[in-house]
Amino acid sequence: QAQFKLVLLGESAVGKSSIVQRFVKNSFDEFRESTIGAAFLTQSIKLTGDDLGESLAPAEEGFDDGLIVKFEIWDTAGQERYRSLASMYYRNAQAAVVVYDITQSESLEKAKYWIKELQKQASSSILITLVGNKLDLKEERQVSEESARSFANELGLLYFEVSAKSGENVQELFKQIALKMPFKAQVS
Ligand code: GDP
Ligand code: MG
Repeated sequence: QAQFKLVLLGESAVGKSSIVQRFVKNSFDEFRESTIGAAFLTQSIKLTGDDLGESLAPAEEGFDDGLIVKFEIWDTAGQERYRSLASMYYRNAQAAVVVYDITQSESLEKAKYWIKELQKQASSSILITLVGNKLDLKEERQVSEESARSFANELGLLYFEVSAKSGENVQELFKQIALKMPFKAQVS
């Protein structure tokens, strides 16, 4: 079974913990308590033969039933004040999800800071995904999808817009990350 470390970064209140809760428990709390330090969870995702498609080499056809990818998820908080601490969480991570709130343009600036930090300090092979959350609040949008997506494309990042509240695109986000993990090397 392939297991990967994934870290969530981003300004507080953008919905990092809510995205994790949606992914792990398929639920949402309007009044969740904010995370202190970092929380650790694991969650598996099953990739089917259809998901894997052509990325599955003939020698690996034994995986017709699908492949389980397990994520070790590190949900961070408070790193504004403990920046050196944050590097502990992303140091050995294979994937980073940098979250901003589409209704708060400053939160995208904070996300850009984290992306720079990851590019300087994290493993060069880390998969970075920029995520715009609170897609259910489209009417209050301050960041256009096109501008954020083109920023992500320029830097070679994956890009998703999701809503932890409605659940829109949350499973898809983690599935696409799972598909990009070098899982074949870890299949035993
Ligand atoms: P974190 O500090 O980044 O972990 O953010 P939280 O997950 O604690 O969420 C902060 C606040 O935003 C909470 O009141 C959540 O209920 C709310 N929130 C999180 N995700 C969404 C979303 O997709 N839509 C809406 N409308 N609110 C959200
Ligand atoms: Mg949190």
